[in-house]
Amino acid sequence: MAVIAAMLFGTRDTMPPEADIAQNTSYTVVIDPAHGGGDWGVNVHGIMEKDINLKAAKLIKLKLEKANAGITVVLTRDNDSFLTDAARAGFANSKKASLFISIHCDYSANPQAEGYKVYYSAGDNIAGPAGREVLDWTRVQLYHIGESMKLAAFISQYMQASLIPESGAGANAEANSAVAGKYRKEQSAALASLEGVDMPAVVVELGNLNNSNDLSYLKDEKTLNTMAYHIKEAISYFLKDKK
Ligand SMILES: [Zn+2]
Repeated sequence: MAVIAAMLFGTRDTMPPEADIAQNTSYTVVIDPAHGGGDWGVNVHGIMEKDINLKAAKLIKLKLEKANAGITVVLTRDNDSFLTDAARAGFANSKKASLFISIHCDYSANPQAEGYKVYYSAGDNIAGPAGREVLDWTRVQLYHIGESMKLAAFISQYMQASLIPESGAGANAEANSAVAGKYRKEQSAALASLEGVDMPAVVVELGNLNNSNDLSYLKDEKTLNTMAYHIKEAISYFLKDKK
């Protein structure tokens, strides 16, 4: 019955299988809570992006390490401190991490605009000569664009799943708490914060802080947890797929 429902409605069969990677493989993942210190990021009535980014990053770390014995998650900052983009990239590179996710919240010129976005760096915006040895370090992301695109697609796909309330028996309760009204969008862009990151890397904008719906779910521990859960699932799946 569940299979028929999935065929009819195209829900679960568009999803990769539940993914936790094997325990005998070890990976380092870098989660980057963007902004910090005197750099607040978006600030809407005292609700600051830097704080939400840090909260979300800590939730993702907790969930990833709990679910996967083989994954070590390091945060570029675990307190309210300022770091340059270059320092974040250099830190991630020094860890020889398998992937890098920069967590942001957005501000839209149109306050009606809502939803998360996932970005990867656009190769066509970086005019680098061919051959790794002659690239300067800010262009090193060029080598990972294919994998970065894949990671962005996985994160979008898993976050999109939170749109679909699953009523089938045995489904994961945490995964089912819907974050309503969100859309899938992975985009390429010129992303200064991913320059110099020598591994698959994406920027996740969790939502628009000046949109009232987005603001309410980003302030709510429960919905923030749901988003963290889906990002964790996407990371697990990406690493499993890489193996
Ligand atoms: Zn930001």
